[in-house]
Amino acid sequence: MSAPGRNERPLRVAIVGSGPSGFYAADTLFKSDVVVAVDMFDRLPTPFGLVRGGVAPDHPRIRNVVQVYERIATHERFRFVGNVEVGYHVTIPELGRYYDALLLACGTETDQRMAIAGEELPGSYGATQFVGWYNGHPDYRHLTFDLSVETAVIIGAGNVAIDVARILCKSVNELRHTEIAQHALDALSHSRIRDVYLIARRGPAQAKFTTKELKELGELEDCDPVVDPADLQIAPEDEEDFRDPTKANNLKYLGQFAERAPSPEKSKRLRFKFLWSPIKLRGVGRVEEIQLGRNELVGPAGGRRARSTGETTRLACGLVFRSIGYRGVPIPGVPFNDRYGLVPNEGGRVTENGKPVPGLYVAGWIKRGPTGIIGTNKPCSAETVKHLLEDAPKLTPCEVPDTQPLLDLLRERGTRVVGMADWRIIDQAEILRGQAVRKPRERFTHYHEMLSLLEDEQ
Ligand SMILES: Cc1cc2nc3c(=O)[nH]c(=O)nc-3n(C[C@H](O)[C@H](O)[C@H](O)COP(=O)(O)OP(=O)(O)OC[C@H]3O[C@@H](n4cnc5c(N)ncnc54)[C@H](O)[C@@H]3O)c2cc1C
Repeated sequence: MSAPGRNERPLRVAIVGSGPSGFYAADTLFKSDVVVAVDMFDRLPTPFGLVRGGVAPDHPRIRNVVQVYERIATHERFRFVGNVEVGYHVTIPELGRYYDALLLACGTETDQRMAIAGEELPGSYGATQFVGWYNGHPDYRHLTFDLSVETAVIIGAGNVAIDVARILCKSVNELRHTEIAQHALDALSHSRIRDVYLIARRGPAQAKFTTKELKELGELEDCDPVVDPADLQIAPEDEEDFRDPTKANNLKYLGQFAERAPSPEKSKRLRFKFLWSPIKLRGVGRVEEIQLGRNELVGPAGGRRARSTGETTRLACGLVFRSIGYRGVPIPGVPFNDRYGLVPNEGGRVTENGKPVPGLYVAGWIKRGPTGIIGTNKPCSAETVKHLLEDAPKLTPCEVPDTQPLLDLLRERGTRVVGMADWRIIDQAEILRGQAVRKPRERFTHYHEMLSLLEDEQ
């Protein structure tokens, strides 16, 4: 019998995760010479991963990329299997009965810890939690952030740190007509935060944020950025980093921020602090203060590291958000590198003890770590799919080449599978709810709201 990959018997691939890497993998599979059927699983009843749950609500143009994914989802051999958590509702060995290959595109859904004393105090959060909350991700809907405090501190110097800072610093007027979840807008409208600190371990030459995001911080209605000119004095070893045009442009804008006098009419300040690391959070029953340690840069050009100088300072604050990287959440039955928080792999082929695990692949952030922009996932998924298709003739065909028995099994287990047609009902309802309040959409933020809507439609 010939290998799967024909009209009579397509190659059956389960993609776990419906974020950018999942959709780019599906697209590459469909564009290949092999006939492939893709079932795309997601633990949420809604597709698109961080494009829905991570990308900032006030950046609508970036979110438009979902139109590309919607088009891929119209392929005749594509199926969305939403509201199904792989590893919980269905195990990896069970999926192996119905699919010839499994491709994990499940992202990195938890934060790196700072590993300092006081990190567990109320008032200390991962950026994931705050971002999920303002984006209406159902896992974070129950959270409340005490915005009655005057000072918030963000640890990190990447674009996610900037997103968190910008949402805290924007006026309600600037956020009102964005996709921000209503509960977050309501809470932010009572915010008393006046000072937001962005704490970077290294200097401006090593900061990871991009220029567009940085520049925007100088254009806020009710907030001025504050930069200490001393932080912009560049050592000869840092000059190599500034050959990168993004870094050079960042320096230009940071220089402009350092020169301008904060306007008295604006009520908020966003204060950049370069070359400081968090040492300890203190407080009685909640965060009241952060202790920071001063760093200096050591090491050769292009490889500059932060080293403690021994100098410390304290900053009174009521909220701390860490944004220092992400880690994957292990799925039972899938090898996991606990040190890096990723699935070990070679070019997308999952490995265990250095050997490929037949039929198991990985793409996107869970493959290479939380780096790059949405578009970076495209070549990453293409590499994985290339290897999957190279292996396909040697893979053991699955026992049950049909999705219906799996859907029956999931129903027996009490899982309401959400398909693409269901998602369109949710999508339309959110858009309609948004129209009433002049927003692009008003999201459902509870699982039960989305599932009851689907029951009502039926
Ligand atoms: C806060 C934030 C803001 C960002 N803003 C931008 C931006 O403005 N521009 C830009 O270009 N990039 C941005 N990015 C980066 C971009 O979002 C990522 O590059 C991209 O989403 C990674 O895609 P992915 O498919 O690997 O993972 P994800 O997008 O995280 O998708 C993973 C999917 O897997 C699902 N899943 C996880 N575990 C399971 C399981 N066990 N079973 C079933 N499903 C599961 C999740 O529900 C999710 O839908 C941002 C990232 C963050 C964190």
